[in-house]
Amino acid sequence: MRPINRGSVPLVNGIPRVVMDYKDWRKALIDRIGPYCCYCNMPLNDALQVEHVIAQDIDPALALSWDNMLLACGPCNRSKSAKPCPPTTHYLPQFHNTHLAFVASAISVHPRVPNASAIFLTYRGAPALAANANNTIQLCKLDQDTTRNIQQATDLRWKFRFDAFVNAS
Ligand SMILES: [Zn+2]
Repeated sequence: MRPINRGSVPLVNGIPRVVMDYKDWRKALIDRIGPYCCYCNMPLNDALQVEHVIAQDIDPALALSWDNMLLACGPCNRSKSAKPCPPTTHYLPQFHNTHLAFVASAISVHPRVPNASAIFLTYRGAPALAANANNTIQLCKLDQDTTRNIQQATDLRWKFRFDAFVNAS
């Protein structure tokens, strides 16, 4: 999970941009932080979603706020949904340095098929923040074993985590 710095509100003719639809932040977010899910790091093609860090239902005043927008994949966004995730109880890429905090581990998920491994995120940062980090893992289901549903191909985040893990090894 990369730390995110989306920068200040984009300007239009020197004036902070205002949008009427939160999805209008999509291009500026891609330009600033790249086409990746901010939670699971999956590269996003045309399926990227503009994600409210603090859900609209929780704080309607942040519904169109640039400072409340990130990019997420469908599985992370759906898992996160409108659940509360304040930075006081969760470890979040826009508030914390999450670069080295989460580590991916390979776990064999099919004992009879040695190469069928999935990658799950665990936390290796300061013990005082472990509970918050685990709240984030649960929030986005980043430890979810989706390999049993692979035929349905509904959640391929584990595969991208696996590829990243192999490339980094
Ligand atoms: Zn994701």
